Amino acid sequence: MKCSVCGKTVNAEYMYCPHCGSHLNGKEQLQAIIDESFQVLEEVVKGDTMLRLENISNKLVSIEEELDKFLLTAK
Ligand SMILES: [Zn+2]
Repeated sequence: MKCSVCGKTVNAEYMYCPHCGSHLNGKEQLQAIIDESFQVLEEVVKGDTMLRLENISNKLVSIEEELDKFLLTAK
């Protein structure tokens, strides 16, 4: 078989190409790794965004409370 990266003939039993070191049949595997990485990244970004929104929401609540106090004492 041929290495999909460097195109050199490689023993099909090899897991890695001895010429370029890439994983044989690595295209699908690489794609799977990339997909998985993006999925994880997406989850991290989503999680981070939710956390930020929660922080902002908490701050808004405390600002509202401060405003209420201010309005009460101003009367
Ligand atoms: Zn190779």
